[in-house]
Amino acid sequence: MAVIEKYIRQSALPHIWCPGCGNGILLAALLRAIDKQQLEQKKTVIVSGIGCSSRASGYMNFNTIHTAHGRALPFATGIKLANPELNVIVITGDGDSTAIGGNHFIHACRRNIDITTVIFNNNIYGMTGGQYSPLSPSGTIATTSPYGHLERPFDIAALAIAAGSTYVARGTAYHAVQLTDLIAKGIANKGFSVIDAITQCPISFGRKNKMGGPAQMMQWQKDHAVMVAAAAKMKPEELAGKFVIGELHKSDAPEYTAEYDKMIARLQGKGAEA
Ligand code: SF4
Ligand code: MG
Repeated sequence: MAVIEKYIRQSALPHIWCPGCGNGILLAALLRAIDKQQLEQKKTVIVSGIGCSSRASGYMNFNTIHTAHGRALPFATGIKLANPELNVIVITGDGDSTAIGGNHFIHACRRNIDITTVIFNNNIYGMTGGQYSPLSPSGTIATTSPYGHLERPFDIAALAIAAGSTYVARGTAYHAVQLTDLIAKGIANKGFSVIDAITQCPISFGRKNKMGGPAQMMQWQKDHAVMVAAAAKMKPEELAGKFVIGELHKSDAPEYTAEYDKMIARLQGKGAEA
């Protein structure tokens, strides 16, 4: 705990999260990743949307902004463009990032702007009362699908890769040490990084879907996660009902703010290509 204590706003505690919620584990993994990358607190901005996960920014001793539902990425994009020297990290939920903010999400991937986005993915809208989100698995019992959810969920990692993100990874609250490493690598990537962080919401998801308490939900994460190296040797039918964790994608592409700066230099007659 000592490592991350300096990054916590003690004055903002106690936090609002329910007992057994995974958000605290993800927050600790993010803070350890920030520490690992030795990001300067004054030069780091945490931007969040709306929802249980997005309350995390308020507990973090950085420059923080808690924005509107689904709009964390537009705010983060503006901040990064205004000052590309800043480290910009977005905390968002599965509903926030893929429903209300879904369009912003794919275009941030496409631009490859140097922002790290950590999706606190608990498969549900926790704060607003347990409505299904675009990442709720088929069959999910939610307040908006009391007889089982008919839609298929997005594979958010596949969507991010297809849309142009240059670093995509998935981890879980159970695999917190690995998750720290994945987030650190996302921060190190000079481009748009997405970390799908699977976590437990025992209150709005677990109870309705009879998954047991927090410990059982974390056991579920352990039992259903397959490391990327192991998954590569498995047949699709063996992977059915499981999900792959680890670094899923890494590529090189021009970063948006660097390209923007080049254009400014060119138009001012200072760039090499002007
Ligand atoms: Fe966590 Fe769910 Fe409670 Fe929200 S409703 S704080 S996600 S357990
Ligand atoms: Mg959620």
